[in-house]
Amino acid sequence: MNQKYLKQWNFPSKSNPSKTYTVSLKPDGEYICSCWPYLRTRQPCKHIKAAMNATQKAQTPTISRLDVRAPEEESQRISLQEVLERLLGAKI
Ligand SMILES: [Zn+2]
Repeated sequence: MNQKYLKQWNFPSKSNPSKTYTVSLKPDGEYICSCWPYLRTRQPCKHIKAAMNATQKAQTPTISRLDVRAPEEESQRISLQEVLERLLGAKI
């Protein structure tokens, strides 16, 4: 039977560069890996954790820093202007 995966990642083995471990994301949300530690224990291995990190980063929405910072700078500019006006007003 052919099982379709939502996504797959390939991780080259450090001990054997010609060998590649494949992490697959199953349609039910489960991650599986082809390395021995995972096949033996069925616990998330370092490859699965790396794949999960990559997925989370891709899904994190990017927030424009300019949009967040703009109101703060505006209020600082106004308060600085107010201080200057008060100083000038006191002098005159
Ligand atoms: Zn693995």
